[in-house]
Amino acid sequence: MNSHGVPTVGGEPFFYYRPFWNEHKFLRSYPREGLFDAALLRGRHLAPHPAGSPVAARGETGRELANALNESGGAFVVDPDTPILAAGGVGDFPSPRIALMPHAQVLELPVSRISFANPSDRRAFVGAAVGQQAGAQVVTAPYFPFERRGDGWYDLDLDLIADARVIDASRPLAAFVQASVRTLVAGDVGTAAPDYASAGVDLVFLRIAGFDPQTVGQAECRAYRSAIDAFVAAGVPAVADAVGRFGLVLSSAGAAGFSCGALHHKSVSENVIFEAADEMRSAPLQYEVPHRWYELTHTQARADARRGVLPACPVLGCPALVDGTKSSELKEHMIHYFTHEVRALAQAGAASARGRLTQHPRGANGSWRAAL
Ligand SMILES: [Zn+2]
Repeated sequence: MNSHGVPTVGGEPFFYYRPFWNEHKFLRSYPREGLFDAALLRGRHLAPHPAGSPVAARGETGRELANALNESGGAFVVDPDTPILAAGGVGDFPSPRIALMPHAQVLELPVSRISFANPSDRRAFVGAAVGQQAGAQVVTAPYFPFERRGDGWYDLDLDLIADARVIDASRPLAAFVQASVRTLVAGDVGTAAPDYASAGVDLVFLRIAGFDPQTVGQAECRAYRSAIDAFVAAGVPAVADAVGRFGLVLSSAGAAGFSCGALHHKSVSENVIFEAADEMRSAPLQYEVPHRWYELTHTQARADARRGVLPACPVLGCPALVDGTKSSELKEHMIHYFTHEVRALAQAGAASARGRLTQHPRGANGSWRAAL
């Protein structure tokens, strides 16, 4: 465990950066130089590459993201990436690395609840997932989406958490809570909070499948806030996973932070197979406009900055708009801005965030006020 600790209820919220699979060069240098709380790494991005693939032929082991962070002193948490193991088999996976995760090789795929009927099989699965987390800040349990408290998957999730606790008692324990928007709006995510607290979870990452902050309505935003409140009331810090800048809103209202990537992981898809395919999509990175709740193309952002109509980045010396900068500077800017702003807004509070949203209405962010 490194010195970064984990966010606490009422403490400073974290921004978790979800890197793309090949960002190890960036992560080898950036956390040493810029504001950085922690990275959130997908299990598949730590798996070996298929034998004979060009990357394997170059000598990459698959551990490059973790190694880069260990070298640069950047903290990380591993998302065990398990929902997809219940959604399909090897032939359905968009990346061969998914089936090469150590825990994907313990039970026959796709897994079902029956796969875990034997506790020793279940523990072997958890052990393999935890084995992938060497060097991580916290230990995380495998997880599957549930619909409501007490359903079969829900109970399995709690068993997986208990196993992870036994297998690694030395690090703080984090859990991912994955549920659909329908489950969120029905209040069944928040209802889970006392059970997660009783299971000894030190931190949760909420993953709401189908919750897209760019199209979401007020009821969903209000429900997300209620779920955060329920975990806070149970004493468990709750991070909003893969929500883009909507995470700033939630963090001003009590969330322990949020996560996203520079291009991906700005929402959680309803379909885990589709989501995985979506991660292969590439598009030019955009410039996250400070304090305005939207992004611009790099060209437009530089033009606006020259005209003096763009608010300055709160981080002095931000390189993102200097002529000749490239995508890595846009990535740096997003990370350092979110890391800075998540604290500033948490300190300023929900009323301040509401005021800023009102001043800068844009698209769906009018709905976000319902969370405040
Ligand atoms: Zn910046």
